[in-house]
Amino acid sequence: MELGKGTIDWLKLIKFAKKNLSVTDELSIIDLPRINGIAHNKSDKIKVNYSFYVENKTTPCLDGEISLNIYLTCQRCLEELPFSLDLSFSMAFVKNENQAEELSKHLEIYLFEDKELSLIDLISDEILLSIPMAPKHNLDCLSSFKENNNYEQVKEKPFAILKNIKKPM
Ligand SMILES: [Zn+2]
Repeated sequence: MELGKGTIDWLKLIKFAKKNLSVTDELSIIDLPRINGIAHNKSDKIKVNYSFYVENKTTPCLDGEISLNIYLTCQRCLEELPFSLDLSFSMAFVKNENQAEELSKHLEIYLFEDKELSLIDLISDEILLSIPMAPKHNLDCLSSFKENNNYEQVKEKPFAILKNIKKPM
């Protein structure tokens, strides 16, 4: 059963939850437009596990696990920067906010206002939340930093401050 690229309406969501449906799905990065836009490895796979269940007898919930390798752009040197992501989420779908108050705190609340839920959007949101806003290399980038002489400038600063302090009043 393929879930990933489709949408789910409220009735289907209830049905999946009551059945405790569990599905493993494989997508490509290219299937997720917002992720595709920032990734270098567009043809690589994304593995997703979905487990639907009912909480408090009425609320459909979804536990998801997402794993992928993604190559982003380092915001300092503009070279590729690999990330290996294994993330999970637990989400409760509600029709109104009052419903959310009775639910366990560990659940993210998804206000189901639209007619249909796009799993692609859901998965994209979770991935975007887990990657840094301005990704940068930790070590490799530092060596390219040195080559540009930027590192030297940073080192000189403390001395400049010291000189100012030592100036006679
Ligand atoms: Zn870098």
